[in-house]
Amino acid sequence: MQEFIDHTYDVVVVGAGGAGLRATLGMSAAGLKTACISKVFPTRSHTVAAQGGISAALNNMGDGDDWRHHFYDTIKGSDWLGDQDAIEYMCKNAVAAVVELEHLGVPFSRTKDKKIYQRSFGGHTINKGASMAKRACAAADRTGHAILHTLYQQSLKHQSEFFIEYFVLDLIMDENGHCRGVIAWCLDDGRLHRFSAHIVVLATGGYGRCYFSCTSAHICTGDGNAMILRAGLPLQDMEFIQFHPTGIYGSGCLITEGARGEGGYLVNSEGERFMERYAPHAKDLASRDVVSRAVTIEILEGRGTGPKKDCVDLHLEHLDPALIRERLPGIAETAKIFAKVDVTKDPIPVLPTVHYNMGGIPTNYHGEVLSGKEEIPVPGLMAIGEAACVSVHGANRLGTNSLLDLIVFGRAAAIQAKELIAPNTPHKPFRQSDGEKTIERFEKFRHAKGTRKTSEIRLEMQTIMQNHCAVFRNHELLSAGIEKLKETMKTLEDVQINDRSLIWNTDLLETLELENLLQQSWITIHSALSRTESRGAHARDDYPERNDEQWLQHTLAWLSDTVRTEGRPVHLQPLTNEVEAIPLAKRVY
Ligand SMILES: Cc1cc2nc3c(=O)[nH]c(=O)nc-3n(C[C@H](O)[C@H](O)[C@H](O)COP(=O)(O)OP(=O)(O)OC[C@H]3O[C@@H](n4cnc5c(N)ncnc54)[C@H](O)[C@@H]3O)c2cc1C
Repeated sequence: MQEFIDHTYDVVVVGAGGAGLRATLGMSAAGLKTACISKVFPTRSHTVAAQGGISAALNNMGDGDDWRHHFYDTIKGSDWLGDQDAIEYMCKNAVAAVVELEHLGVPFSRTKDKKIYQRSFGGHTINKGASMAKRACAAADRTGHAILHTLYQQSLKHQSEFFIEYFVLDLIMDENGHCRGVIAWCLDDGRLHRFSAHIVVLATGGYGRCYFSCTSAHICTGDGNAMILRAGLPLQDMEFIQFHPTGIYGSGCLITEGARGEGGYLVNSEGERFMERYAPHAKDLASRDVVSRAVTIEILEGRGTGPKKDCVDLHLEHLDPALIRERLPGIAETAKIFAKVDVTKDPIPVLPTVHYNMGGIPTNYHGEVLSGKEEIPVPGLMAIGEAACVSVHGANRLGTNSLLDLIVFGRAAAIQAKELIAPNTPHKPFRQSDGEKTIERFEKFRHAKGTRKTSEIRLEMQTIMQNHCAVFRNHELLSAGIEKLKETMKTLEDVQINDRSLIWNTDLLETLELENLLQQSWITIHSALSRTESRGAHARDDYPERNDEQWLQHTLAWLSDTVRTEGRPVHLQPLTNEVEAIPLAKRVY
């Protein structure tokens, strides 16, 4: 096996999506020697696909918005599973974070008086639901694109160093449980690199690709989450998978909630605007989990649209075509390509599609990774963005709160890193054995001579997750899913790799990603089985009620044959006395 190429940095950020780039930018600007590693070119990260907007109570539309309304909505949206201290930190810092983005150069859409344009989104309200807020700051329907490009340019300006098309295989942990760096495989020359760092920041995004139908990119395989599991650390709240109610039928491509924010609505086969029955106040702008369940029930009860009655219709044709051209140009194009629909004339067939992972790597609001329910930070390790579970989204994320989470906690991680790393701190040299186990795994797959194709195993896993761990769950369905998944996981030992080279070996790359996905599916389905209640996105037919007595806690889960789980108390108190704790209440829209 070849020698490692070794590098030394103060900080290594894994991931160049919105979270990774915001952290990279902040760390470089603070004078820390920072490397950012990404398996794809930075501006191809999934953040580029974010459409609808980023939330901040700017009150630019004169609706009387305030960060305390945002705080309330986020806690209610999370079905009280979100940590109120972290939520306060995020909502309070949102306004400054968005204004900072504007000053960095993000080309937001504008109101008539040249302020940042804001639209309505699901679950965004004023005065605890008294009226809908306009809180989503948008650059047409390409907000993520605008943010990502700006952050990449700013990172270059601050001399951050990029390692592009490098695939990080694993963390390097020392005998005391400190993180010392990472091992990466350079895809274009095939060499293996070790990066030594005082702090590693995982910003590797979500793992939507565990499912058959999802809105996320093929690269969303949650690699950082799997690295955490292999380092013997837990993941948190993995049972909470957000289904977006309006994925395009067939392709799963997203139609942003911003389409309903601009006045679009859903209709069943009887021509009924059924959301009026499920959420009399918020209607089509109820929270995503609520709308996804309503759509699923409509389909299950035979009121679906289309030849197979297995979707519903999203109507936009009543909107002014000029508004669609200005505010929703991207989704008009997506609908044309993927549904062959002209949105100014016909409705778009849609159905709930996997969209976001509320769960992930447990952290505090400084971005530090936590090792268990005692909440002790793991030295040298941070996580941010969709990979992390701070937890600001709890059991269900509100639309536009993810882009905000990336920016606020990317910035917070940079502030904390500056505190933690003393200038000129020497690096502990790597031991000979550092990385050996990772290379063993890598070589095992590279020389695998089994009979099953990676794509075959992947499809099997995705089908199991789609059929056994979707919008509605119960004991029987989940248990059967676990048995099937166990068999599928075993067959990874029999995987067939045809390419033995090290340069752009996508066969090997996809197999490594598949192992990561399988480990996360395993944790997700077990966590879903263990939580015997319904909360947010986790809807159990056999336990239809929320059970605060037993389940007002986060799930921590460690990787093993049976999956060990433990509860972690929810933080029910805010950070400061600028806002009052939101007491538990029934969640209705
Ligand atoms: C279609 C779509 C629309 C959305 N719209 C909105 C919206 O309007 N508003 C909102 O708030 N949220 C939205 N979301 C959610 C939000 O966009 C994502 O949660 C967020 O962008 C995730 O950002 P991230 O920085 O955590 O990760 P990502 O943007 O997914 O980036 C992950 C990074 O990690 C790198 N990486 C991963 N694994 C490895 C590895 N092994 N080695 C090296 N590098 C690695 C990748 O190269 C990439 O750079 C949307 C999501 C989707 C899918």
